[in-house]
Amino acid sequence: MPQPFLSPDAHLNLQVRGLPISATLAINEQCDRLVAAGRPVYRLGLGQSPFPVPLPVVEELKANAHQKSYLPVRGLQALRAAVADYYNRTQELAVRAEDVLVGPGSKELMFILLMVYYGDLVIPTPSWVSYAPQAHIVGRQVHWLPTTPNQWLLTPDALDRFCRKDPTRPRIVILNYPNNPTGCSYSAEQLQTLAEVARRYRLVLLSDEIYGELSFTGRHLSIARFYPEGTIISGGLSKWCGAGGWRLGTFVFPESLGWLLEAMATVASESFTSTSAPIQYAAVRAFRGGLRIERYLWQSRRILRTLGEELRRRLQAAGLTVAPPSGGFYLFPDASPLREQLAVRNIVDSESLCQQLLEDTGVAILPGTVFGRPPEELTARIAYVDFDGSRALAAAEQVAADAELGGDFLETWCGKMLTAVDRMCNWLHGAAMTKGNPSI
Ligand code: GLU
Repeated sequence: MPQPFLSPDAHLNLQVRGLPISATLAINEQCDRLVAAGRPVYRLGLGQSPFPVPLPVVEELKANAHQKSYLPVRGLQALRAAVADYYNRTQELAVRAEDVLVGPGSKELMFILLMVYYGDLVIPTPSWVSYAPQAHIVGRQVHWLPTTPNQWLLTPDALDRFCRKDPTRPRIVILNYPNNPTGCSYSAEQLQTLAEVARRYRLVLLSDEIYGELSFTGRHLSIARFYPEGTIISGGLSKWCGAGGWRLGTFVFPESLGWLLEAMATVASESFTSTSAPIQYAAVRAFRGGLRIERYLWQSRRILRTLGEELRRRLQAAGLTVAPPSGGFYLFPDASPLREQLAVRNIVDSESLCQQLLEDTGVAILPGTVFGRPPEELTARIAYVDFDGSRALAAAEQVAADAELGGDFLETWCGKMLTAVDRMCNWLHGAAMTKGNPSI
């Protein structure tokens, strides 16, 4: 027998050994394969904005395609200034350009933050799929905190009870709102009381506000307003600007945590060097905003709110428990009220639910377990993004601003999403599972 040429069991870094590809990207690639095989697929797995990048931002990218130089590690100065100005304008903060760090996606910046800060990671359950694996890769301990039963929100009490056990231990807490995977958010009072706990224990608070501009009210509030000295705001172009594939993220630091920014810049300089130059020039235009971008955002929120509410209504009518969404494009239904009838079909946990659902109906969603929920729970994340956002935006422009978009609008422009959720609901209730059956 020839000896194998090195082996993953012996030669892979222990922190990486056995780790799978991130669930969001794995489901996307699985959908690609199913589509290539000619299967009808409803792509509710990856959380990718359905909307196009706003035209003025695309034009700016075109005009800057020739930009070929390496840019400063911390980011293009004009972009850092535009980001600072954006937060000062929208959140009434006092951010300076030098408080901003630009990176190739906020995900990369989070990874580097976890690497440079020597403390535990504390996250509510459920949380986005990558926080915990990133911490694991860099050897940090992860603590999951319980959330409220109906809204999946972290309470000041739960945070305080956890920190009290070891009050001076260094910790990073990640708070994400509007939330991925639940679509829920915190009120100003809730943010304020959480901020008081964070201050008591001198926590580094990473406030992941990547969906902030997609808050349905259009009035997203940052916890940095209440805990400026310890909050790092994470943002970027991926969600509100429809530019996930452009890979541009930003971190905004309080002056008191400037040393963390500096340490991250050092790691950046030894790893990704700097963020893509043309993308940074285009991002200046995005962060400067203006009427055309405001209008794009207003219509995006209007469509997402109408669609999210309608999908929630249908899921609830089918007997699932679902929190009302207040921003972004996710719902996090719980099918436990149907547990007994699902168990008869051997569907006993969120993994088997999602696998079987995809196999039988072509609807791809992600199981609650990848967001840190207990495996036996019947929760899952729906990303309601499988529709043509360009056409939906153009159609929404034709509907009077003070009118509701309504059912006809959704049927015409987001019909695939309605079909996907109806198929899911019918399937949960045991509709015949022959492929091509129009009832599922
Ligand atoms: N944030 C998106 C999601 O949760 C996709 C991007 C990613 O996970 O890297 O689906």
